[in-house]
Amino acid sequence: MTIDEKIITNVVQEVIQQIMNNNNNNDLPKTINDKITGIYDSVDDAVDNAVEAQKQLIDMTLADREKIISAIRQAALDNNEMLSKMAVEESKLGRYEDKIKENILCVTKTPGTEDIQPIAKTGDNGLMLLEYAPVGVIGALTPVTNPTGTFIHNGISMIAAGNAVVFNPHPSAKNTSAKMVEILHDAIVEAGGPPGIISAIRIPSLETAGQIINHPKINMLVATGGKPVVKAVLSSGKKAIGAGAGNPPALVDETAHIRNAAECIINGASINNNIFCTSEKEVIVVDEVADSLIKFMQETGKAYLLSSEEAERITELVITKENKINTSFIGRNVQVILKEIGIKLDDKYRLAIFEAPKDHPLVWKEQMMPIMPIVRVKDIAEGIRFGVEVEQGNRHTAIMHSTNVDNLTAFARAVQTTIFVKNGPAYSGIGLGGEGHTAFTIAGPTGEGLTSARSFTRQRRCTLVEGFRII
Ligand code: NAD
Repeated sequence: MTIDEKIITNVVQEVIQQIMNNNNNNDLPKTINDKITGIYDSVDDAVDNAVEAQKQLIDMTLADREKIISAIRQAALDNNEMLSKMAVEESKLGRYEDKIKENILCVTKTPGTEDIQPIAKTGDNGLMLLEYAPVGVIGALTPVTNPTGTFIHNGISMIAAGNAVVFNPHPSAKNTSAKMVEILHDAIVEAGGPPGIISAIRIPSLETAGQIINHPKINMLVATGGKPVVKAVLSSGKKAIGAGAGNPPALVDETAHIRNAAECIINGASINNNIFCTSEKEVIVVDEVADSLIKFMQETGKAYLLSSEEAERITELVITKENKINTSFIGRNVQVILKEIGIKLDDKYRLAIFEAPKDHPLVWKEQMMPIMPIVRVKDIAEGIRFGVEVEQGNRHTAIMHSTNVDNLTAFARAVQTTIFVKNGPAYSGIGLGGEGHTAFTIAGPTGEGLTSARSFTRQRRCTLVEGFRII
C-alpha cells in the first residue's frame, strides 16, 4: 500500500466512524443528562431504545444472556432491603419482611435461559427443530401490589427469552418501580448488556399505558393487574398475556389435618397483608370441623377472632356505601384496620377472622386485606359447589385441605384454577415452600399459567429433510 492509499483508507475509516457515531447519536433519544438510564419521560423514546437494544441482545450469545440474568439476580438481592422498604412506604401495602421474601423468591426461582431449550425430533424424514424465539419488544403493565417482584420476575423471564421490555408501572408505585428498573438496568449494562433493554416510564399514567398498548413497535403486551387492564391488552389486536384478579377459596373438609390447615391458612392469607393475588381470600369449611378450625386458628397466636358485632363494624368500615372495597385499607396491617373500630391488637397478630354468611361481601370481593371471612357448609358437596361459585371463573387459585383424594380431585376438577394447592398455604403454589418455579404474572385468563421465559416467545420450526439419524 502506498502512503496516499494509507491516508485515503484512514480518512474513509474516520468518516465511516463519524457517520456511525452520528447515526447512533441520532438514534438514541435524549434522556436525563443524555445518559440511558432505563427511565424515560416519553414512551416513544423508551420504545425506540428498546428496539435497538433488542437487536443487540439477539446478536449476543446465550452465555451473555445468562451473564445479564445473573447480574439482575445479584442486583435485586443486593438492594433487597432498600427496595422492600421503599415498596411498603410508597404503596402503603404489604409487610417489609414479606417483601424481602417475595424478592428472594423471584431472584432464586424465576427460570433463565434453561426455560427456552429447543425441542428436536428426528425420524426417517430428517430433523425437526423447534426453537423459542423472541417476540421483540414487550410492553408490560404492572400492579401496585408487587412493584419489586413483578419487575424481577418479568425482567429475568423476558430478557432470558431475548426480548426488551418497556414497563408502565402502577402510578402509586412509580418511584419504587423506577428505582427497581434503574438498579436492574445499571446491573445489565455493567454486565455488558445493551442499554435500554429494560426500561420504565418515569411518570406512568393511563395515557402512557394507552400509548404502550397502541405503539406500533411494541410486539407483545403483558398485563398483570385487575380485569380492566387485562381487557385493555386483550382488545389490542396484539399478542397479549393477561394475568388478572383472583378470589381464591380455601376449602377444608372433615378429613383434613385441621391444625395444619389452620396454620397454613393463617400464614397464606396474611403474607403481605393478603395482597398476593394467590392468597386465600375466604375459607369454606365443613360444619363438622368448623369449630376446631377456628379454635386452632386462634391457637396459632396470629389470628384474632372478631365477634359478630365487631365483624359488622369492620364490614361497614372496609366496604363502601357503593358496595366496593374501601381501598384505603388494602394491604394495611390488621392493627391499623382494627384500630379504626377501637380494637387495639398486639403486634403478634397478622389476621382477623370472622364467621360470615354466604352472601357476605368479603366472601365475594377480592379484599386484599388481612380480614378473613369463614363460611360453614354442611358437607363437601356443598363446599365444592360454593368454592366454584366464589372463585367466579377467574381460573386463578384455589386451596384445599383434605386427606380424601376423591374430594381433592373433585374440587380441582370443578374449580379449574391455574393453581390448585393441596394441604399447604396458597403461596406454596408459587414456589414459596412448594415445588416448581415462581411467577408474579400468573396468566389465568390467557392460559399460560405461571409465566416464565417460554411464555414470552414465539415458536419457530426448522425442518431438515434429509437422512439425519445416526442410529
Ligand atoms: P390495576 O389493574 O389497578 O393496575 C395494574 C396496572 O394496569 C397498572 O399499571 C395500571 O396503571 C394499569 N391499568 C389499570 N387499568 C387500566 C386500563 N383500563 N387500561 C390500561 N392500563 C390500566 O391492579 P392493581 O390494583 O395495581 O393490582 C391488584 C390487582 O392485580 C388485583 O386484582 C390482583 O389480583 C391482580 N394481580 C394479579 C396477578 C397475577 O399474576 N394474576 C399478580 C398481581 C396482581
